[in-house]
Amino acid sequence: MVDGIIYKALSGFYYVTTATGNLECRARGVFRIQKNSPLVGDYVEVEIDQESDLKGTIVKIKERTVEFKRPAVANVDQALIVFALKNPTPNLNLLDKLLVMCENTGIEPILVLNKHDLDDANFYAEMTKIYEASGYKLIKVSTKVPGGTDALKAVLKDKISVFCGPSGVGKSSILNTVQQGLKLKTGELSEKIQRGKHTTRHTELVALSFGGFVVDTPGFTSLAIDDIEIDVIKACFPEFQARADKCRFDDCLHIDEPGCDVIRSLDDGEIHFSRYQSYKQFIYQKKEDRRKKSW
Ligand code: GDP
Ligand code: ZN
Repeated sequence: MVDGIIYKALSGFYYVTTATGNLECRARGVFRIQKNSPLVGDYVEVEIDQESDLKGTIVKIKERTVEFKRPAVANVDQALIVFALKNPTPNLNLLDKLLVMCENTGIEPILVLNKHDLDDANFYAEMTKIYEASGYKLIKVSTKVPGGTDALKAVLKDKISVFCGPSGVGKSSILNTVQQGLKLKTGELSEKIQRGKHTTRHTELVALSFGGFVVDTPGFTSLAIDDIEIDVIKACFPEFQARADKCRFDDCLHIDEPGCDVIRSLDDGEIHFSRYQSYKQFIYQKKEDRRKKSW
């Protein structure tokens, strides 16, 4: 029996990387019966076949820490949310939405702020002020200066990471700098492949030469928070949660209630206005959706 991790799943075969090499595996039928099919990212136990030591059978799936839906992958340790400090300037509403998605999925987000070679106005300091206060980790990188992605490499090492963020911020450049030839399959590209070859779209983990894996398709490409309840959105702003105990009402939504400590912290500058603005916009959007549904 050997331990491994599934890095690719295709046409009923699972490809498992182990300490001694890669194996092509089938899964025990019992998983299908239990409706618990293996996923890319699963840590598994494999029984190596008698006839070929390159083939095996998955006999056990270890408990998953998290399960990502799109792309379907298990045990992602962290989401690297990439934005540029300049060209294009970050859309903080979108950034906050991605953070909500991470909080809701239970995946640790890390803010990767790229193009710091262009950051002559030190926007990074501003971003640090907002997001460190919210409890998030930030790193600044640049693909245009030597050693500009070293800090990111240290973060990627020995973890399973998924990259998110809008196009043009430098995701491909970053991945290519970290490891040559590594790039994300964009939706457009894999759809083309799908049409051309009639294969199903699939997600893979790409092994990093220095340890760890990167999911080869971007995460959170659909940006809908439609499925997230208002109370959950509220809980996805960690710095609000820390103050909600002091709000006069237990069910305070922090919108216009009297005695709201979140709003008070806003006046004090303890909670950053741009975070609150995003929050309010998400809540209003949810309420609007609810109204439309009840018609
Ligand atoms: P993606 O769409 O997020 O994958 O972004 P790309 O990797 O395609 O990069 C978009 C543009 O930003 C390209 O023209 C890159 O050359 C440029 N770029 C990427 N990283 C940096 C950086 O660190 N500094 C500067 N100045 N430009 C960068
Ligand atoms: Zn409140």
